[in-house]
Amino acid sequence: MKTPLELYIHIPFCIRKCDYCDFLSFSSTREQQKTYMKALKREIRASGTFPEHHVTTVFFGGGTPSVPEAERLAEVLELLKDRFQFNQDAEITLEANPGTLSEEKLRVYREAGFNRLSLGCQSVHSEELKQLGRIHTYEEFLESFSMARKLGFSNINVDLMSGLPGQTLKSYEVSLHTIAKLEPEHISAYSLIVEPGTPFAERNLDLPDEETERRMYDRTGEILGEYGYTQYEISNYAKPGRECRHNIGYWKRTNYLGFGPGAASLLGSRRFTNTTDMKKYFADSGCPEMVREDVEVLSVQDCMEEFMFLGLRMNEGISEKQFEELFGQSIDEVYGEVLKKYLALDLLWRSNGRIGLTREGISISNVILSDFLFG
Ligand code: SF4
Repeated sequence: MKTPLELYIHIPFCIRKCDYCDFLSFSSTREQQKTYMKALKREIRASGTFPEHHVTTVFFGGGTPSVPEAERLAEVLELLKDRFQFNQDAEITLEANPGTLSEEKLRVYREAGFNRLSLGCQSVHSEELKQLGRIHTYEEFLESFSMARKLGFSNINVDLMSGLPGQTLKSYEVSLHTIAKLEPEHISAYSLIVEPGTPFAERNLDLPDEETERRMYDRTGEILGEYGYTQYEISNYAKPGRECRHNIGYWKRTNYLGFGPGAASLLGSRRFTNTTDMKKYFADSGCPEMVREDVEVLSVQDCMEEFMFLGLRMNEGISEKQFEELFGQSIDEVYGEVLKKYLALDLLWRSNGRIGLTREGISISNVILSDFLFG
């Protein structure tokens, strides 16, 4: 019986850096993009073929994977299909940003086999987009969305953000209604985190207060619910059957293999992350072991922590039976005290052999999840 495997491909290019972004991405020339694609293909070719696995999902993320020529991505996807055994219905996602798409590019993606598109919109208000340093307006997003639909993308995610500088509850609600009316199959709604080292961290930002942020979170579920979306993870909402299989695999600790600088992998109990040093990546990508850093073999305790920490992010929570099957101990033997504490506070629910965060629990999920760490 073959084991599922997810693939992640990092494309570290953006037209311009957004002011809040700390992802590994930068602007580039066509020549640099070509050189990068060659290095990426070297890494893929040298990484083995994993005959005991079948690929269930592929995610091209970044950066902005829609920045390089579409043909280059098509070549990478073809190489992956050559090297790995793909499930017939594999979910193949491309992250893209408005302002970088054209009909021609979308046609190439479709023909290559991409069947899911994830579009970064963030807000429908151009002044909020400008504050974020995004390269596009809402009208450009709309154009990209319609083009994608016209060219046959029937599985689209739209990213939205809350907690933005100058954003009000009202303006966020308008963003939610406007995007939901377009009926994408999936909406990711994240709240802004001001990361150290970004231009945002240097500014005196006019951010919504804590109470408004809380209301924004609550209104996300309420408004998207009115349009037929169900929340299935802390920040993710989908129409029935359109949950992102790639992300669910990640939260359920399915094996995944990442290619490109900064890409992370989990193979059994082995976890590693590729170097973020581009020079090193270009020099050594043909020998994957040399670009892999932070290689660790996870202990049983590490695996238990991850099982809880990631699994509790999902609305369906975690399965007590699965915990016992994986680790040979009941969940109460290991986490009895923590469970008792949060169940009594109504921050966790327990029913039909599953345990999950309540609505109240989600709002302080960071505190609760960190209580499942042993260290
Ligand atoms: S488009 Fe995305 S990856 Fe690129 S700079 Fe903006 S937030 Fe970062």
